[in-house]
Amino acid sequence: MSLDHRLPDELEELRRTVEAFAHDVVAPQIGDYYEQHTFPYDIVRQMGQMGLFGLPFPEEYGGMGGDYLALGVALEELARVDSSVAITLEAGVSLGAMPLYRFGTEEQKREWLPKLCSGEMLGAFGLTEPDGGSDAGATRTTAVRECGGSWVINGTKCFITNSGTDLTGLVTVTAVTGHKPDGSPLISTIMVPSGTPGFTVAAPYSKVGWNASDTRELSFSDVRVPAANLLGEEGRGYAQFLRVLDEGRIAIAAVATGLAQGCVDESVKYAKERHAFGRPIGANQAIQFKLADMEMRAHTARLAWRDAASRLVHGEPFKKEAALAKLYSSEIAVDNAREGTQIHGGYGFMNEYPIARMWRDAKILEIGEGTSEVQRMLIARELGF
Ligand SMILES: Cc1cc2nc3c(=O)[nH]c(=O)nc-3n(C[C@H](O)[C@H](O)[C@H](O)COP(=O)(O)OP(=O)(O)OC[C@H]3O[C@@H](n4cnc5c(N)ncnc54)[C@H](O)[C@@H]3O)c2cc1C
Repeated sequence: MSLDHRLPDELEELRRTVEAFAHDVVAPQIGDYYEQHTFPYDIVRQMGQMGLFGLPFPEEYGGMGGDYLALGVALEELARVDSSVAITLEAGVSLGAMPLYRFGTEEQKREWLPKLCSGEMLGAFGLTEPDGGSDAGATRTTAVRECGGSWVINGTKCFITNSGTDLTGLVTVTAVTGHKPDGSPLISTIMVPSGTPGFTVAAPYSKVGWNASDTRELSFSDVRVPAANLLGEEGRGYAQFLRVLDEGRIAIAAVATGLAQGCVDESVKYAKERHAFGRPIGANQAIQFKLADMEMRAHTARLAWRDAASRLVHGEPFKKEAALAKLYSSEIAVDNAREGTQIHGGYGFMNEYPIARMWRDAKILEIGEGTSEVQRMLIARELGF
């Protein structure tokens, strides 16, 4: 019996393919998209053609027949170069398509998954609201069943990734569809196709980072969708999104690991090139030690997300490990971005350097798909508190 540190051959091949794509296709152009705050359609289309949006889904639905390990490997390599592109894939798969795959009927899967897997369509997941992010029990959006059978949705969602691109075809939203005897809300998940009358998508937010990804506020005013757009059982929405977020945390941890590793890549290169006091700055032990610590953190984060993904793939409990991986990797991504920027000196503050983009992109990792505080709450709960 041995614990194998190597990726299986097919995953290593995928890693190399995505690494080459990130360097040859993403790296040369993403800086312009980022500075202009525009969505990189051309890059996303190529990712679709490569099958990246279908990585963890079965071939019968147009997927690649892989799993969360494959998704994580691809996300890490993309985020090593750019996080906007990585988060577009992460949200498209983990939040857009995965709820359908996990909880949809056969008919719903056959209708939507092939388009989502090919990347010709992007899906989004709308949980967060202006008055409720960490506390999803505070959901105010409502969906009422009409006599004719349609759901009538009213409410507002905020900060929703991939929700307003030209490729967006579907947003799955959580909504209160009733109340339990104790008065607590019954939350359900309902699919709303883009373009449904009454469904309005606001202009993209002006963000600190992830500037080439799409994030919007969504409004629902008497939006009518067929009863068949309910995802899974009525009232199971809370349990569904907990599962979706548990899995999504592994994907976010892979993104954070990629960013942390990207900071090492950029900083090692820079420390060898930049001279001060007549020698490369990397000749100073103080800089070498920073780099050694950064490498240690990225390496450990990789072990953490791969461990959580492996448990998920093997059908074992993974909630605590996913929270550990998300918490650790996002915090060390911020550390690595800060130290990497420091190594770059004034140039690290200039947007033309990838490290500046990484610094801007790191912070959201401690917030999205469950803040660091929420991860600590989950881990403490698993410890019996
Ligand atoms: C760029 C971006 C993309 C996003 N994409 C999506 C998306 O696609 N879909 C989606 O649904 N959401 C999305 N989100 C929303 C994101 O998941 C939320 O912002 C996040 O979960 C935090 O919720 P909040 O912003 O309401 O913060 P709040 O819940 O208001 O929290 C504010 C602060 O209070 C802390 N806090 C809250 N409760 C406690 C407690 N009990 N103990 C200790 N501390 C506590 C939090 O940790 C945080 O530090 C996105 C956000 C951003 C910025």
